Amino acid sequence: MDALIEARGLTKRFGRTTAVDGLSFQVRAGQVTGFIGPNGAGKSTTMRIVLGLDAPDQGSALVNGRPYVRLETPLREVGALLDAAALHPGRRAYHHLLWLAQSNDLPKRRVAEVLDLVGLADVARRRAGGFSLGMRQRLGIAAALLGDPPILMFDEPVNGLDPEGVIWIRGFLRELAAQGRAVFVSSHLMSELEDTADHLVVIGRGRLIADTSVSALLGSASDGSVTVRTPYRSEIMTVLASAGGVVSSTGAETLTVTGLPAEKVAELAADRGLPLYELTPHRASLEQAYLHLTRDAVDYRSGGGTGEAGASR
Ligand code: ADP
Repeated sequence: MDALIEARGLTKRFGRTTAVDGLSFQVRAGQVTGFIGPNGAGKSTTMRIVLGLDAPDQGSALVNGRPYVRLETPLREVGALLDAAALHPGRRAYHHLLWLAQSNDLPKRRVAEVLDLVGLADVARRRAGGFSLGMRQRLGIAAALLGDPPILMFDEPVNGLDPEGVIWIRGFLRELAAQGRAVFVSSHLMSELEDTADHLVVIGRGRLIADTSVSALLGSASDGSVTVRTPYRSEIMTVLASAGGVVSSTGAETLTVTGLPAEKVAELAADRGLPLYELTPHRASLEQAYLHLTRDAVDYRSGGGTGEAGASR
């Protein structure tokens, strides 16, 4: 798999602040790559550098193997939503997209297509100034999709959306990745990307903390325990303990087992004809995995130390 976005040793300073500090990572096709870090960690600055809006002090960022400024029709190669408020309030949604399309030599019909894709076809002739935040986010996503690009970047797209909008955007990001696109999406909250991201690039104070698949991260944070519920508690306890499991009773019908995978527990119970009502391998949440990952790195925190990946905006 080739990297569609590649950051190599990026560093960006604003006066005394080092916003991005020697950052390297790759974003690949067919995946949602989550870009995680507390507010102020350097996510937006990194995205701006990738899009040629900020120049790095050191290092380079490549899109499809080239710096953004060397792309001939950028909207056909990478679509981005950095700031949903960045539109002319007096312009109608349709016209906002039309001038973008024309500036990149894209066909007019594409405007109607993307409005339809994001569910704004009915309000296409309304002025963007009257749009809710959720509608603006959708319009920004429509703009990113205009050139049908293989790479998409979204900066905190979930921020400020209502629950329906959050569910919509998660499904949409997954769909874009399933179409084979590289989807790079930032969030200051790990939990926002649970069940959405395949891969994570985690940063703190401009530096890379982790570059990992979600499954590997969750695996490393899980304690490997299994919850078992059965009316045959004492019989199962004996069977599991003699197979090498460490078993503790956690309720009238429930047990927690470590040292045996769920599959083995199921086989042992089946061999003896002991029915199980529940068999649940413990799965760490992404938030727990994040805390596990950054336990020793106090440096990454944004000051509040709330236990979340940064305070909310
Ligand atoms: P994030 O997107 O992760 O919240 P940013 O990239 O916006 O982080 O900011 C990283 C750091 O760089 C912060 O300390 C921020 O205050 C600083 N910063 C970002 N842009 C500018 C700028 N134009 N001028 C000065 N400081 C900036």
